[in-house]
Amino acid sequence: MQTQPTASHFINGAYVEDTNGTPIDVIYPATGEKIAMVYAATPAIIEQALTAARDAQAAWGAMTGTERGRILRRAADIMRERNHDLSILETYDTGKPYQETSVADATSGADALEYFGGMAATLTGEHIQLGEDWVYTRREPLGVCVGIGAWNYPTQIACWKGAPALACGNSIIFKPSETTPLSALKVAEILVQAGLPAGLYNVVQGMGEVGAALVTDPRVDKVSLTGSVPTGRKVYAAAADGMKHVTMELGGKSPIIVFEDADIENAVSGAIVGNFYSSGQVCSNGTRVFVHTDIKEAFLKRLAERLDNAVIGDPMDPDTSFGPMVSKRQLDIVLGYIDKGKAEGARLVYGGNAIDGKGFYMQPTVFADVTDDMTIAREEIFGPVLSVLDFTDEDDVMARANDTEFGLAAGVFTRDLSRAHRVAANFQAGTCYINTYNDAPVEAPFGGMKNSGVGRENSKAAIEHYSQLKSVYVRMGDMEAPF
Ligand code: NAD
Repeated sequence: MQTQPTASHFINGAYVEDTNGTPIDVIYPATGEKIAMVYAATPAIIEQALTAARDAQAAWGAMTGTERGRILRRAADIMRERNHDLSILETYDTGKPYQETSVADATSGADALEYFGGMAATLTGEHIQLGEDWVYTRREPLGVCVGIGAWNYPTQIACWKGAPALACGNSIIFKPSETTPLSALKVAEILVQAGLPAGLYNVVQGMGEVGAALVTDPRVDKVSLTGSVPTGRKVYAAAADGMKHVTMELGGKSPIIVFEDADIENAVSGAIVGNFYSSGQVCSNGTRVFVHTDIKEAFLKRLAERLDNAVIGDPMDPDTSFGPMVSKRQLDIVLGYIDKGKAEGARLVYGGNAIDGKGFYMQPTVFADVTDDMTIAREEIFGPVLSVLDFTDEDDVMARANDTEFGLAAGVFTRDLSRAHRVAANFQAGTCYINTYNDAPVEAPFGGMKNSGVGRENSKAAIEHYSQLKSVYVRMGDMEAPF
């Protein structure tokens, strides 16, 4: 497969290049080999993208929702038809196994395009009667949106931001993570093929400074970031200076509570999906697994048995279920946390090592006897490291689960119906799971509480973050004035 893109950026409906930009190598995580390169956007490229997005938006915003939605739904169909090739590219870009990318990336992007494409025609204001006078509201686009992506779900993030932005009549400039620059360009190509007018979905490459240049430009009305909390703080502050709308999808350190009456097999499945899918590089992962002491040893035994079934290897092989880390840097960060876990007294019960050979592979790793104050229980690791913490009492575990700066997700496994809903209600987290973990359908709001973010993606809730209401007062009779 051709992994080198036609050019680095996609602006105004076409590929564009500026070789004066800083070169960025694209590395295949499974081998460590360079598979492509792009140039970071120069000020001239950023200017082109902003001009194109600004110029194209008004006509798009003036179209009917039905017309806009038809284009998005056509793009969804094209994405599904091309799912195989898009999944291979996503695997090259991220190292995630084809077993995952073929069901969770372009398909999830297509879901967003289809969902918001369908919703575009339903976006309306309302009529408010005030005696004989009345007010109506108009739901209007924000204008130019900037999307900034993380490297774990590049296609999905490009669509989760692009689809609602376009459905509401905005234009968007998307800057993928510098680690995974390839697939957003394909999203842009597909949208144009589906009939999206030029200038509405633009992709520019680059590191943080390109994102910062976009965020601070006065022509930008909204910023949606998927990234870490430290980056979120910077981007939120920069956006606040220009009073821009924001969506912040940031990091987490989410809890999963496994009560003594839980179905252990299901709880182990939840812990596996919530810690080892995408080699643990998922923001909503439930990395603090609180297990009732009555079932702790049984849980750990089954977890280890099931982890032995992980197929670690060539991500292109459909049987492979556990791929490499995205980069050498991320691998080193995660191994550093494992060293800290050992040094601070956690008991390593599974894995813990890098895997020799090509690529950035490591073993799925489990620590037991983890306590709340340990670094591995407090900081986001963003790798395949599961911490098991003991508990016996519901009130106590609830307080401990919520004792974190993050609030992205949380899960509970129990057969007790009342307890399940009570715990879900008490979680300080934007997305909660009962007897399941890490589902993210487009129909449901997704986003964080506390430091994990601001705003919601997906679902009807996303519309509020990509449009604004204008109230129009209408007086039927004469207007009175004091003098
Ligand atoms: P990161 O914060 O390092 O980078 C995210 C993006 O921000 C990149 O595109 C980067 O170039 C850009 N950026 C960096 N500095 C910037 C600045 N000053 N101004 C503008 N843009 C800037 O995150 P990462 O390492 O790419 O991704 C991992 C993080 O993302 C984890 O913390 C993870 O939890 C989080 N994440 C969150 C979600 C979610 O939906 N909540 C989803 C995926 C990943």
